[in-house]
Amino acid sequence: MTTLDIAHEKREDALAAAPRALRPSLVGLTRPQLMEALSGFGLPEKQLRMRAGQIWNGIYNRGLTSFEGMTTLSKELRQKLEAAFDMSRLEIVTEQKSVDGTRKWLLRLPSAVPGVPGPEIETVYIPEEGRGTLCVSSQVGCTLTCTFCHTGTQKLVRNLTAGEIVGQILIARDALGEWPDGGRNSEDRLITNIVLMGMGEPLYNFDNVRDALEVVSDGEGLSLSKRRITLSTSGVVPMIEKAGADIGCMLAISLHAVNDETRNKLVPLNKKYPIAELLDACRNYPGVSNARRITFEYVMLKGVNDSLEDAKSLVRLLKGIPSKINLIPFNPWPGSPYECSDWETIEKFADVVNRAGYASPVRTPRGRDIMAACGQLKSDTVKKRASERFRDEKTAAQPIA
Ligand code: SAH
Ligand code: SF4
Repeated sequence: MTTLDIAHEKREDALAAAPRALRPSLVGLTRPQLMEALSGFGLPEKQLRMRAGQIWNGIYNRGLTSFEGMTTLSKELRQKLEAAFDMSRLEIVTEQKSVDGTRKWLLRLPSAVPGVPGPEIETVYIPEEGRGTLCVSSQVGCTLTCTFCHTGTQKLVRNLTAGEIVGQILIARDALGEWPDGGRNSEDRLITNIVLMGMGEPLYNFDNVRDALEVVSDGEGLSLSKRRITLSTSGVVPMIEKAGADIGCMLAISLHAVNDETRNKLVPLNKKYPIAELLDACRNYPGVSNARRITFEYVMLKGVNDSLEDAKSLVRLLKGIPSKINLIPFNPWPGSPYECSDWETIEKFADVVNRAGYASPVRTPRGRDIMAACGQLKSDTVKKRASERFRDEKTAAQPIA
């Protein structure tokens, strides 16, 4: 027995005794990362690609949560892998269903601190005629503080891992009964689109979002094309070009105002990256074309940004950028400082936008009765100051005796 074998055996013993959450998860690893994890585990080099492919198939085409069902692997190997790695789902705290068919899951992430429950996130499924959209979170809470957004009032923030981002899709597929193969080869696939419009600012969690989307769009797995994945950003200008180049998914911009004065109030990040810079980044977004338009989201706030002048400025501002406009009726939440524009005002605003050549610009609110609509997401996770988090993380980093 070599020193390496002994090291492996020791590690396996330790891991076999460890609780599930302490085993590294394979969910959300890109193919190269998965191969690396397996190589560290001691599999022969020439088998790596094949074994990674078999495990990938088990996780993303069959929806397996343990190695037991992966019968293309020997029993001995399955047992060893089971002791070393985790593939279990995030914990579902609650699942709610709206009268309009929208579904919302409150999910608990693994805790970094023993004895303290992990933070929570929300994921929403919106069925529509001919398509189904899953709205995925990228962070717990959000460091930005857009004044109309419920998530912005939630202070505890941590980035989701790639596995936690991908894990939300696996949970939805479980609940919708989309295994095996996730309807990949059929017309009646239930999740056809993914939007990163849940909690958090995806461009502040760039690497994990990029890796997760690589996994999600892999043609031999979940197989959702990048053209059916939309990343929504409040306008992190320096990361927009990188998103186009390294991720290549569709882009949505939370614009919400046509002048810097109003946008500074609604989206405080605008003070750092004002409208002109944001729109320049959009013009230069890699791959942007009439077939791959950028979506501009515009929340309708009574008396704030909903005048006919605003509508005309919006159209003028976006001239020359291949774009779609999405007018979002404001979704209220307890204590929100705004009201939704009147329906008549929204229609008049939409008329101006329509006449400029933008089709069906108003987004129907979905799942309002279960607080699942845009900007209503907020779990009960409570505020923690950075110092507290630092202390917790330090404590969590101590070995458990
Ligand atoms: N942080 C990213 C993605 C998540 S927010 C972003 O801001 O783009 C998803 C969308 O919901 C954004 O366009 C956001 O501005 C919008 N939104 C937030 N709160 C809302 C509310 N109360 N009513 C309607 N839309 C809201
Ligand atoms: Fe964060 Fe987006 Fe909400 Fe602004 S709108 S606070 S960026 S989640």
